[in-house]
Amino acid sequence: MSNSTSILEALLQALPDLRTQIYFKSSLTALSHAMEDQILAGVNSTLVIASFQRERFYRQEAHRYLRISERADQVYVLAAPETDFASRTEDYETIAFEPTDALAQEWHLVVVGPRYAACLVCKERQATSEESAIQPAADQSRRFEGIWTFDRRIVCKAAELLLDRILLYRPELADKVGKAKAELSTKTRTGFNNLDPEPFAERLVTYLQAGQYKLIKAYRSITAQERKERLVNSITAAIRRSLDPNEIFKIAVQELGQALRVCRCLIYRCKETDTHVTIQHEYLGAAVESLVGQEWNLGSNPLFQAVVQRQEAVFVDDTQATPWLLNDGSEVSPPSLGDRSNGASPIQRWQIQSWLMVPVIHQSRLLGIVELHNCRATLHEWTEAELSLVEAIATQIGVALIQAEAYANLEDLNQQLEALDRTRSNLIAITGHELRTPLSTIQVCLESLASEPDMPAELRQVMLQSALSDAERMRKLIQDFLTLSELESGRVKWHLEPLPLRECVDLALSSVRARQLHNNRLPEITTQVSPELPLVQTDGEWLVEVLSKLLDNACKFTDPDGRVTIEAHENGGQMLEVTVSDTGRGIEPNRLEVVFDRFYQEEGALRRTTGGTGLGLAICRQIINGLGGRIWAESNGKDQGSRFHLTIPIFQNEPSRPPATLAKKPKGKAAKSQV
Ligand code: ADP
Repeated sequence: MSNSTSILEALLQALPDLRTQIYFKSSLTALSHAMEDQILAGVNSTLVIASFQRERFYRQEAHRYLRISERADQVYVLAAPETDFASRTEDYETIAFEPTDALAQEWHLVVVGPRYAACLVCKERQATSEESAIQPAADQSRRFEGIWTFDRRIVCKAAELLLDRILLYRPELADKVGKAKAELSTKTRTGFNNLDPEPFAERLVTYLQAGQYKLIKAYRSITAQERKERLVNSITAAIRRSLDPNEIFKIAVQELGQALRVCRCLIYRCKETDTHVTIQHEYLGAAVESLVGQEWNLGSNPLFQAVVQRQEAVFVDDTQATPWLLNDGSEVSPPSLGDRSNGASPIQRWQIQSWLMVPVIHQSRLLGIVELHNCRATLHEWTEAELSLVEAIATQIGVALIQAEAYANLEDLNQQLEALDRTRSNLIAITGHELRTPLSTIQVCLESLASEPDMPAELRQVMLQSALSDAERMRKLIQDFLTLSELESGRVKWHLEPLPLRECVDLALSSVRARQLHNNRLPEITTQVSPELPLVQTDGEWLVEVLSKLLDNACKFTDPDGRVTIEAHENGGQMLEVTVSDTGRGIEPNRLEVVFDRFYQEEGALRRTTGGTGLGLAICRQIINGLGGRIWAESNGKDQGSRFHLTIPIFQNEPSRPPATLAKKPKGKAAKSQV
């Protein structure tokens, strides 16, 4: 049933002298409304035919056609159905044509009355791809080609063509349509319209103005959208250029403040729990007081609290008319603005009339706030567009902050890795050197023994002794080295428990004495550690290790005629302080810290007679730090004796827990590697 013949083309064929014109959709809307209004204004009409491209266009006008049907003899409405539009006879005739019908591309309105006739016969021009690319959504700029006229001859011809098309779809209307056609043939002869054109012209202008207003509104929203995109883009670009949060805030606050022409724009970092921030980044409009450097109260700021609670933007158009911002202690309201020490709330102090606060959030974590203040006497109503713009910027700032954070972490990690790598290289170099020395001695001794079978027995004994003692030195060195690596890697698990210090000291003393048994005579060792001292909270085995090393050193660097003392006291805080002092060779004041470095030995390993690896004190410092204490050395210089102090946390008394004893502990520790 569908018909591919265009009504416009059929009309042009019938009346070849006609010239078409281009109309925008907005003009056709205005013309159609003005024509319909003529009927509604009471100008008698015999026939009205309106053809809509789609049912949805008709729906917008359906109420008008109901009223038009009361004022015209015959009304026909055509449309391509989309939902429930169908061919039926009710208040007026509706004709549902096939969507493939040429009518679906056209827009017609024909009005014929005794004193007035007008028609609009237009066909939509397909937009070129260029046109649709420029404004794909601008419905108002769709173009039509056709004829709009009051010429009764043309109007009647158009009506005839449309009536024929109606008959195709509604043959049962043949009688009614026949009547209309007969009327038309008499009216064709009646000549020109006999009507005052002014009301029509006035209505037309009004509709055109309305169309224009719609266009301006659409243009405004496109401009706002574009401005928003530009702003978001420029801030995104700034973010890409910088990974410094300060730089990002500086740019964002300026761009946003300028774009929205607010009196004051603030951007700052904060957490939910912050009570104050110091303002650093601000955009200021003319004649507004700056907040830079000021402590900005958050803890008792109800707007901030509302933002934190809701995790979304909160705004107030008129702070003076917002009781929960101003009143103290109201039950339903959030807490009042604090900072009234100078007699005025920040609203008064900083003249905030309208206030917008948008959170910078990343994965539910508050990272900061964007604030806009209007301080002018006239209130400002925050618009959807402003809100969505600030929210978009806040999102970008959030991403930037997270990026910057990740970058800073990465830099930190990188530095740590570099430091670790340096330490590792140093260690390898130093350890290599320290191991090579005893190894060369062993090699020389063994080579001599192998190549000189006739070597005297005493010399052979000396050689063997030398090789053995250097092998022992190597063993100790490797063991100390592994212990230190373990401690430095942070993998050591401390087994803290309440212990009597005296027990640890006794164990250390017996191990020192056992080690020195076959060596030279030891200096006199005095112990002043009261059993009454409070228990220490520590890992006994590691503490014994430290005390043994300190006592070992004290004996090593003190003549047998000298004295070594170990004493302990409460140092006033929550620590016990242990001191191992000797009357030995002492330490130069500028070496008091260096002695804790790895492989530090005053005389250098080659010239050393006392043995040792140079790792002892480095190990002690790692252990004591790990146990939550401190270790340091004191000496008045050469031959003035030395004092090594260390602190250990006192056990905070829990009556139900008895002290542990070291004897019960399993021997050996996973953290200490035995060689
Ligand atoms: P080691 O004793 O194996 O050489 P340490 O790390 O224990 O290594 O000590 C490092 C250096 O600190 C020693 O070589 C020595 O020069 C100095 N030192 C340590 N304890 C004392 C002390 N009680 N008196 C004088 N010097 C000391």
